[in-house]
Amino acid sequence: MTHPRSASRRPRDAAGDVTLPVLNRRSLFALSAAGTLGLAGCGRERPLQGGWVGASHERGHAWRDGRLPRADAGSARHVDVAIVGAGVAGLSAARALRRAGIEDLRLFELEDHAGGNSRGHRMGGMACPLGAHYLPTPGPHAQAVSEWLFEIGVARHELGRTVYDERHLCHAPQERLFIGGQWQEGLLPLSGASADTLAQYRRFARTVRELQAAHPFRLPTALAPWTPGLAALDAEPFGQWLQSQGFGDPWLRGYLDYCCRDDYGAGLEQVSAWAGLHYFASRHGFHAPGEDDAQAERDAVLTWPQGNAWLTERLAAGLGERLQTGAVLTRVSPAREAVTLELWNATRQQPERWLAKQVVMCVPLFIAARLVDAPPAALRHAAAGLRYAPWLVSNLQLAEPLLDRLGVPPAWDNVVHGSATLGYVDAQHQSLRPVRGATVLTHYWALGGRSPEELKAQRQRLLAEPWQRWARAVIDELSLVHPDLPRKLERIDLMRYGHAMSIPVPGQRSHAALAALARPQGRLHFAHADLSGYSVFEEAFTWGAVAGARVAAGWR
Ligand SMILES: Cc1cc2nc3c(=O)[nH]c(=O)nc-3n(C[C@H](O)[C@H](O)[C@H](O)COP(=O)(O)OP(=O)(O)OC[C@H]3O[C@@H](n4cnc5c(N)ncnc54)[C@H](O)[C@@H]3O)c2cc1C
Repeated sequence: MTHPRSASRRPRDAAGDVTLPVLNRRSLFALSAAGTLGLAGCGRERPLQGGWVGASHERGHAWRDGRLPRADAGSARHVDVAIVGAGVAGLSAARALRRAGIEDLRLFELEDHAGGNSRGHRMGGMACPLGAHYLPTPGPHAQAVSEWLFEIGVARHELGRTVYDERHLCHAPQERLFIGGQWQEGLLPLSGASADTLAQYRRFARTVRELQAAHPFRLPTALAPWTPGLAALDAEPFGQWLQSQGFGDPWLRGYLDYCCRDDYGAGLEQVSAWAGLHYFASRHGFHAPGEDDAQAERDAVLTWPQGNAWLTERLAAGLGERLQTGAVLTRVSPAREAVTLELWNATRQQPERWLAKQVVMCVPLFIAARLVDAPPAALRHAAAGLRYAPWLVSNLQLAEPLLDRLGVPPAWDNVVHGSATLGYVDAQHQSLRPVRGATVLTHYWALGGRSPEELKAQRQRLLAEPWQRWARAVIDELSLVHPDLPRKLERIDLMRYGHAMSIPVPGQRSHAALAALARPQGRLHFAHADLSGYSVFEEAFTWGAVAGARVAAGWR
């Protein structure tokens, strides 16, 4: 899964419905239930080692179900600024406050580690991502992110140009697609593409360029003007918009569907036309074959073995005791003089009470709406409109490299044409070792769902089904292109996200409640990727930077 891709998979039928010629989730589970791995002749398979990692669902659910004891009203500690949630937005808010000289702050995080969706993991001594794994080199509007990358030495100026540290730029080959029995370079399906398909690719590229010229597609959208033209695109499902523009080619639509699932956790029938186009128009456009001159530089991606945890580790460094992990916020009560925060200290197994002058809420909005006493109308409305995508991230530790198949060699991002999942990235891709060896593959799966009910059902399955069943489904899928994988697999660790990211469904980005939450609500300030209606590093970082700077400005 990557942004700057050039490719995809899922052919669609003439009516525009997705067809899954290779595998879908149901067939994956059917395969597992029947125990048919299709691995004859591939050697001995090891007993499955692994389990769930990364998320303390029990803590969150204990709070949700009212099972955590409350602190006495008398004993409260004081702090100038409290930040709730230490994901990218919370860490960025802390950085902005400290840069402005505010040191009396406390960052409360439910998990035992900071980073939120951008945390990392380790297997067999190797770092790997638990969630977010790359950051495209920032464009001209992502100023806050860009400045910080200079500050930490990832970017520098050379002869008036911005140059990125080679160690962090994704090495070639960046991405490949398994199609027609072999690996092709890039993710846009080209192998066997008809003349009609190629013509649609070129026309879509032209359309994106025209829309880029006509509308302010910007990344981050956090600070961009929101115009009637963008709002009109936001009102319509992307699939419907494509149809109305004559983009009916199954390969083009399959690729665009992949891109939407990859960035938004939902397909092109679920997200808005604004979101589907923003994906390309806010970054580097859409590149049809033969039009990719100078693409290498424009499409550069920064990545690390542990994914974006490399970034959040740097953001968290130096916070010391200001960062309190294992702190489950249970209630946030704003009042005239101060805001009272109640939390459960999971390390000491006792409740705590804090009083803060200002609070930056950096948790997903559906959580904020439950935490805040008498939540403001904007928060209630925004939270009621949001839909969250469930995701499964599986880390597969391999004892040896996988056998090569025909076509381009192993890339960082590897996708199988026709799969319902999003493929895998190789955590050792950036390593400079001369010979390939043991590694960890991180497999991504946005479970999808066309309605709130379907999304809820997927979320419940994720919580209810044993890890072995999910692991088996992932292994079965990967075995179709890597039959040697099961016997090389040492262990599989799975991270389940019930509410991974908000889906930019039609009307979501234009919702007045989101715009209202971007402004202070008394002593409360909101900063989370949810405010943008979708989730990427640049949005979360910018919201944190804006909220931190605003709180600091009010202090002077
Ligand atoms: C599987 C996956 C892959 C992704 N890949 C990419 C990628 O490659 N590149 C990219 O740019 N983006 C990616 N994203 C998007 C990613 O969500 C953003 O990049 C970013 O990490 C969001 O940060 P945030 O601070 O807005 O939110 P979050 O990460 O949601 O942070 C919220 C924090 O609040 C904490 N919290 C929640 N409830 C409480 C409570 N009651 N008390 C205290 N703390 C609480 C949470 O534990 C969490 O740490 C991915 C997301 C997922 C799920």
